Amino acid sequence: MLIDTNKCVACANCVPVCPMGAIYVDTTINRARINQDECVECGTCFRGMSQEHLNPTMVRTVRKLARLFRFRFEPEPDVCPTAAFVMNDLEMPRLVRQVFSDPVVEHKSTGIKGRGTEEVKTNDVNPRVDVGEVGYTIEFGRPGVGVRFRDIQEMTMSLADIGVQFEEKNPISHLMTDKSSGTLRDDILNEKILSGIVEIKTRLDQVERVLTTVEDVNRQIDTVTAVGISTRCDSEGEETHLAELLEELGYGAERAKTNMGLGRLTNMEAA
Ligand code: SF4
Ligand code: SF4
Repeated sequence: MLIDTNKCVACANCVPVCPMGAIYVDTTINRARINQDECVECGTCFRGMSQEHLNPTMVRTVRKLARLFRFRFEPEPDVCPTAAFVMNDLEMPRLVRQVFSDPVVEHKSTGIKGRGTEEVKTNDVNPRVDVGEVGYTIEFGRPGVGVRFRDIQEMTMSLADIGVQFEEKNPISHLMTDKSSGTLRDDILNEKILSGIVEIKTRLDQVERVLTTVEDVNRQIDTVTAVGISTRCDSEGEETHLAELLEELGYGAERAKTNMGLGRLTNMEAA
């Protein structure tokens, strides 16, 4: 994202809009600027504010005159008065920021807008995680912290070390050059995104190891993580192992949901 300095009138309305705190007013030139290293190309500033098309010279003159007479001329708080934001065309590796951060941009590897896959939300009709297996979503960067791929790689490499299976259709798996070691593409490691989700699965007996690994890596990386965990009910519609194990390990079920399988019957044993 860029700000057209010919148009910007330094009203600072956009500064609080940026979830990464990447926009600031540069007082040496009296224009707003974007810290390109911190900007995740989410598009919030571009789409989240109304764009007026006032003449920048006119607005600057009125603002200066207003200051002389000790009153202020400010646009409405949710408006960029001169439509100064410019959404520029991005190429790899920077493009990866937009793909993971802008909710209206489709991820080419999955065809889905957003950071995860449909599989994780539709396991009831798509038995990716089967009975006796455990699926995990490890989410980075939310709320409002962001994450660099370098930190995600710390996690994926540590998880690969303990033998987890990465979900093929996940956008982060798609960026791996070697799934057996959890290595990501070298050129994206310094890119920052709003948030990302790693999806893995293991057998039930590996749950403790996975959660310990996530906690250990989480202490070493410069972001925040949240773990979602799921399994599939047996042919009786029961789940008797995972919830008990999590409780033993000291994890309470803070939020939970049950998918009812109303879309397509795949658990033929239960039929
Ligand atoms: S809202 Fe628009 S005019 Fe105001 S500081 Fe931001 S970019 Fe500049
Ligand atoms: S695109 Fe997103 S991260 Fe970049 S400046 Fe705009 S709001 Fe901030």
